[in-house]
Amino acid sequence: MNPIFNQIVSGLCWVVYGSFFEWYFHKFWMHYPRVPEEAFRGHTIVHHGLYKGDDSYFVPEGEHPEHILLKRYALPAIVLVHLPILMLVEKYVAAHTAIGGTIAMTLYFVIYEYMHWNMHVPRGHFVERFQWFQFLRDHHHLHHRYFQKNFCVLFPLADLVCGTLETKGSLQRRKLEREQAIAKGEPHTPTRNNSRGSKIRKRTQVVAVESASPISRSFEKFESRRKKKQAQNQDKWKHEREQFVLTNKRNIGK
Ligand SMILES: [Zn+2]
Ligand SMILES: [Zn+2]
Repeated sequence: MNPIFNQIVSGLCWVVYGSFFEWYFHKFWMHYPRVPEEAFRGHTIVHHGLYKGDDSYFVPEGEHPEHILLKRYALPAIVLVHLPILMLVEKYVAAHTAIGGTIAMTLYFVIYEYMHWNMHVPRGHFVERFQWFQFLRDHHHLHHRYFQKNFCVLFPLADLVCGTLETKGSLQRRKLEREQAIAKGEPHTPTRNNSRGSKIRKRTQVVAVESASPISRSFEKFESRRKKKQAQNQDKWKHEREQFVLTNKRNIGK
């Protein structure tokens, strides 16, 4: 097989992987306070605290833009973490794939940063003319309004596959369904695009019904302890976020 062809195919596979990686990292590290908490603090507290799903989403050029980009060490860290996988694939799965993979990963990251920046800082840049860019900007704007939707910034394939895709169209459709149900006087059950989520809910309901066994009881205890701790943490983070926004507003006002 032609080595260049291998590198190109590998690059394309890593772009697809990139969509799932940004979805996973964004959902489970940037929106949950895991160790190290820097990803959560920088994203949920600072980024979402400053730029919400309203007009504050758009930032004038030069106004505290340092909170849009990721930390400087993010790209080297991502490449380093994936280096063993690239090497193993090169050695045992398909030769001539590591360079294509590394280039694709680096380009994905750089374009991600460039696009995220332009989504928040409109400045008439050439990229803003394209419809696909406007779609992605709306897609990310909706994420700033609905934290648990649209985790992908650059390539929303993983949102589509994992059932977290929200568009202006899907919002409009649900609004219409709601209005029609109200007009007919029927109770309205919203259509969910997350079938996996509803399966999990159904499973949890089954656990609740069959809660007589000791295992179920200890699971319930564990769950109530976990929920209590989560609620305490949420209060802590909420307070920190409010404090951050207040201090920042004060600084900008000076
Ligand atoms: Zn953003
Ligand atoms: Zn987010």
